[in-house]
Amino acid sequence: MKVGELEIVQIAAGEMANFAYLIHHPASRLGLAVDPSFEPQRLLDEIRRRQVALRWLVNTHGHRDHVAGNQVVLQATGALLAAHPLAVPGADVALEEGMVLHLDEVPVTVLHTPGHTPGDLVLNPPGALLTGDTLFVTHVGRADLPGSDAEALYASLQRLAAFPADTLVFPGHDYGPMPVSSIAFEREHNPYLRCPDLASFLRLRLG
Ligand SMILES: [Zn+2]
Repeated sequence: MKVGELEIVQIAAGEMANFAYLIHHPASRLGLAVDPSFEPQRLLDEIRRRQVALRWLVNTHGHRDHVAGNQVVLQATGALLAAHPLAVPGADVALEEGMVLHLDEVPVTVLHTPGHTPGDLVLNPPGALLTGDTLFVTHVGRADLPGSDAEALYASLQRLAAFPADTLVFPGHDYGPMPVSSIAFEREHNPYLRCPDLASFLRLRLG
């Protein structure tokens, strides 16, 4: 899907309904990949078919269903592994809040969105959010796992919900009624974003 100057390719990957992504700049052929999951070959097929020079492989967090396939993609492309240090210690590039990865002149901004895990990231290319396991279409990430922090997840989601209404949402799993939505749709239809306060969010998320 063309979003501004970038092309965002969503790739179904694995039996847990994961989505991998390829974001590239068609004019320069520079790109970055996100969360290869269990089917890195599908990602590599898209990279080759589009003749993308892959600069970075980004992990939204360290869970196995997202980082599986990293080595296959890194070895095939020579890309640098980039992730938050709390998610993937020892990655080539330690991503922190506010860092920017440039595809030619186009900025892809890193948001640190803890909650599901301490090291979750969301990527913000112009007009879009790649939300990993923080925000799904009509759902949000689990907050009952080791390292989860439901209050932090609430704050991260509030932050995402404040993006412009027409910002596209590309989630880390296919858990909703459609594979891509928008911040406007999530504000209206995601029960976790409709919670009026932290207490009601915690009741809904943690039961
Ligand atoms: Zn996860």
